[in-house]
Amino acid sequence: MSEPKKPASPKEARHVERLRHGSRAQRDVNPKRAAPLRKAVRPPPVLGSIGQAAASDEPAVLLDRRAVERLDQGHLWIYRSDIAAPETVAGGEVVRLVDQRGWFVGKAFYGANSQIAVRLLTREEEPIDEPFFARRLAQAKALRDAAAPDPERKRAGRVVHGEADLLPGLIVDRYADCLVVQTLIEATDARRDLFARLLEDLYAPRAIVERNDVKVRAHEGLPQRKGLLRGELPGPVEFFEGEVRLQADLLEGQKTGAFLDQAENRIEAGRYARGRALDCFSYGGAFALHLARRAEQVIAVDLSEHAAALGRAAAARNGAGNIEFVVGNAFDFLHEQAAETKQYATIVLDPPAFAKNKASVPAALRGYKEINLRAFQLLEKGGTLITCSCSFHIDDATFERTVLSAASDARRSVQVIERRGAARDHPSLLGVPESRYLKCLVLRVL
Ligand code: SAH
Repeated sequence: MSEPKKPASPKEARHVERLRHGSRAQRDVNPKRAAPLRKAVRPPPVLGSIGQAAASDEPAVLLDRRAVERLDQGHLWIYRSDIAAPETVAGGEVVRLVDQRGWFVGKAFYGANSQIAVRLLTREEEPIDEPFFARRLAQAKALRDAAAPDPERKRAGRVVHGEADLLPGLIVDRYADCLVVQTLIEATDARRDLFARLLEDLYAPRAIVERNDVKVRAHEGLPQRKGLLRGELPGPVEFFEGEVRLQADLLEGQKTGAFLDQAENRIEAGRYARGRALDCFSYGGAFALHLARRAEQVIAVDLSEHAAALGRAAAARNGAGNIEFVVGNAFDFLHEQAAETKQYATIVLDPPAFAKNKASVPAALRGYKEINLRAFQLLEKGGTLITCSCSFHIDDATFERTVLSAASDARRSVQVIERRGAARDHPSLLGVPESRYLKCLVLRVL
């Protein structure tokens, strides 16, 4: 664990000192300067709450004005450069957030290693204890029970979507009667057993598996780990997505076993499918299986031999004899098919995130343009393209501009039938753009 940051200036040092002692008398460091007019209206602080930093066990973290504004605008993350924290605060602790005048702003998870030092939990003065987390998990469950009821537990879906469910750094996916958990930050990792217990109470699952073998944990100084937390290790878990029978290997599959954010888009793609269909970047063929219900013939292309094997097994389980799994580079495959002037009625493009960071955006856009251009060249008149991007660094407008540029190079006029995103069990939080990353356009070529 790294040392907490030393105060950068004497002024900051004074603030930290003031927080440590919880002095009420010193709360106006600079009383001559009037507080700036705030754009967003927050309820005024309650007088009685000033100075509670001293009474509370939770260490107080001082936010600068930029941090307070960011929280006012709906975000939950504050960077280390915008706070002053006491030296004694440890990674994973719950902290009280106070503004420059000492007013209570909220409570948050503190991270000692990540550049994101603070993740807001609540804007209210409330205890952060077991009942608090139980309520948050129950709220998250209530959304899923209402939006996608599954009383027989035969389907899969995300039951906790981190920040967007106001549970920063916690992901929980349900596959039929099994749960997969990711604790992505110090604070949720330290409370892993608590979450497992609360999830057990709420869902009575057959097993709870952890898939903490994800790169983002490195930013938090957390090790890679996967295994069983509760129950008995399940074999591959069967579940339904619409009418399609899928299977996920919770310990070895991609992500937590499958790409659940695309579930609704796959079901929707199935409704548009007809004629000769192509599923590029197919992984276990989940799109292909939906397409195969209406299309005459489907070709599924993925770079990975393992993905193709999963796909062939899934096709057999679904009695889908009309899918051909091709192992290969989708860029080359699309290029060759276009050179041979092949025609398709339905095409799905669901590539991995081409832009993993800001620097790779230009190259990523070239990649998106190329595959979409080929798809437009391959589509017959009236054909449907379902084209996706899960790169957070490329926003909706930029993605759409890139697709338009591909259409115009292919000299095609294109209707937008649907602008879609992640499934409704992957909500995004207003003010947290990072929680909105998946774009899915349903297009018709005229
Ligand atoms: N459509 C899938 C998820 C796709 S994930 C679903 O709905 O479940 C992206 C997939 O693209 C991975 O399986 C990966 O193996 C594959 N992939 C990555 N680069 C590729 C390339 N250049 N050509 C073909 N497949 C590729």
